[in-house]
Amino acid sequence: MVPPNKTNTIDFDAAKLQRLGFAGKRMPSLRPISLSQLRQQLSLQLQTSLEVEKILAVFFHEVQRLIPLTALAYLQPTSDLRLELGERASHSASYHLTHAGEYLGELIFRRNQRFSDEELGQLESLLGSLLFPLRNALLYRTALQSALRDPLTGTGNRIAMDQALQREIDLARRNLQPLSLLMLDIDHFKNINDTYGHSTGDDVIKAVAATIKSQLRNIDMVFRYGGEEFLILLSNTSREGAAMVGERLRHAVMNLQCAVDQHAIQLSISLGCANLLPAESAESLLKRSDSALYIAKREGRNRLTMAG
Ligand code: GH3
Ligand code: MG
Ligand code: MG
Repeated sequence: MVPPNKTNTIDFDAAKLQRLGFAGKRMPSLRPISLSQLRQQLSLQLQTSLEVEKILAVFFHEVQRLIPLTALAYLQPTSDLRLELGERASHSASYHLTHAGEYLGELIFRRNQRFSDEELGQLESLLGSLLFPLRNALLYRTALQSALRDPLTGTGNRIAMDQALQREIDLARRNLQPLSLLMLDIDHFKNINDTYGHSTGDDVIKAVAATIKSQLRNIDMVFRYGGEEFLILLSNTSREGAAMVGERLRHAVMNLQCAVDQHAIQLSISLGCANLLPAESAESLLKRSDSALYIAKREGRNRLTMAG
């Protein structure tokens, strides 16, 4: 690895971090090898994956051929990544990885004996093999994430929704837990576009999405289903629980202060709510929540209807 003040920098830091889960499995021990052999092997092996988790697992495993370790932690706040492989230990060596001004995250090596200067030098050298595979994996992760996100609202898009819906149905079945779905649509949205213009319409969609997100748990998933329609997946949530969430969203949107040129825009949403039935398909669940939404519209809007 290149020393500080060149394009690549590593900073030492004695920061102690709490354990964040992801306990690694014990891997079979490998034959010890020299630093240069290990560097060579690592540069080949780390190229074989674009998954951050896999790259770090291989790195952790291989580094132990030269330097005994009990844990490797990785923190990357911008990508919301926090991994910890192995067991907690009393000594640590921490590196902030940077490449061309771009922060790639912090790596922490842990074990119960102090690291010698020679070992720290070897670790730094081995980190050089990790830099580019890690950067590529982070870029890939960002690309994947943006492919699943609606750019206007930051909520999941249709592709993400299809994947999440099937995954949540499978999970609910396996864990014998309820799953609820809310489909919602902004009332008389065409009027907003017609009166204030398309760009204000976009701002309203954004504001409604932000309001919805602010009312939900972290694990609830919001997707933009159509122009001004959203779908919310509520895992482990009963019919009654989902109705309560739906009502909370309806009130939050009614109370949303939206104004154009000091002219208040009164907003409301209609919602359809369906709870997963035994052996029901994703398609049928969607269809039932859509029919419930249709009834809410027909019966006067600004209301929630439960699917039959
Ligand atoms: P209803 O209460 O029955 O839902 O009435 P509505 O006027 O909201 O009717 P509808 O849902 O059919 O119309 C949605 C309109 O949303 C039609 C379309 O022009 C507009 N729209 C769709 N996508 C976007 C978008 O991304 N931005 C903006 N500004 N408007 C959009
Ligand atoms: Mg609509
Ligand atoms: Mg509408």
